[in-house]
Amino acid sequence: LLRLADATVRFRGRPALDAVDLEVAEHEIVCVLGPSGSGKSTLLRAVAGLQPLDSGRVLLDGRDNTAVPAHKRDVGLMFQDHQLFPQRDVGGNVAFGLRMHGASKAEQGVRVGELLELVGLPGAARRAVAALSGGEQQRVALARALAPRPRLLMLDEPLGQLDRSLRERLVVELRELFGELGTTVLAVTHDQGEAFALADRVVVMRDGRIAQSGTPLEVWQRPADEFVARFLGFDN
Ligand code: ATP
Ligand code: MG
Repeated sequence: LLRLADATVRFRGRPALDAVDLEVAEHEIVCVLGPSGSGKSTLLRAVAGLQPLDSGRVLLDGRDNTAVPAHKRDVGLMFQDHQLFPQRDVGGNVAFGLRMHGASKAEQGVRVGELLELVGLPGAARRAVAALSGGEQQRVALARALAPRPRLLMLDEPLGQLDRSLRERLVVELRELFGELGTTVLAVTHDQGEAFALADRVVVMRDGRIAQSGTPLEVWQRPADEFVARFLGFDN
C-alpha cells in the first residue's frame, strides 16, 4: 500500500530522514519506535504530504504521490499534539474530515455518531472539547482521523499523554478496531509495550535511518545492533 523509496528530508543541511526505504502492506499495523529527534514525525509528515522530500519518492497503491498535495492523498494523520479545534464541539471536530470530502449535513451527522460509538464515546457529539479528559480528547482526534476512511492511517503518539492503564486498554481496543475496519496503520510511539502489543511489525529509527525492521518478537529477541539493544533497554 505504501512504499517510501530513498526518502530524504533535510533541515538546515542536516538529514531528518536519510534515504529511508520503507514498505507497508495492506492491513499491516506498523509501529515506529526511536529516540526523540530520530525522524519519526518527519516520516509520517512526509508520507502525508505535509513535508516535501528533498529527494526520493512516496508511492501509495503503486502510484507516485511525491508531488500530490496532502489533501489529495488517501491517508489520515493524527498529530502528536492532537490539535482539536477548541471552538468546535466534539461533533464539529469529527465532521471536519468529512466536510473536506464533500459529505452532506445529514450524512455527516450519521457518520459522526458511528465514529464516536466506534471510539467509545457514544452520544458525545454536542460536548465541548475543553470539557473532555485527555483520553477522551485523544479518542475524538482518532475519530476525526478515521472519518474520511483513509486506507492508510498514521498516528503520531496516539496515546501519548495517557496513563498506563488507559493506554493498555486503548491499545487492545485499537487493534480490534483496525482489524474490523481493515485499516492499514503506521503509528509512532515512545512506548515499547504499546508498539509490541499493537504492531504486526516494528520499525526502530535512529538519526533519520531505519536501524531495524521486523516483527515485535524478532526485534525483541534479535536486536540488529547495540543501538537497538540499548534502546530496548537491554543494558538496564
Ligand atoms: P520526538 O520523539 O521528539 O517527537 P521525532 O523522532 O518525531 O522526535 P522529528 O520531529 O521527526 O523527530 O525530528 C527529526 C529532526 O528534524 C530533529 O532533529 C528536529 O529538530 C528536526 N526538525 C523536525 N522538524 C523540523 C522543522 N520544521 N524545522 C527544522 N528542523 C526540524
Ligand atoms: Mg515526533
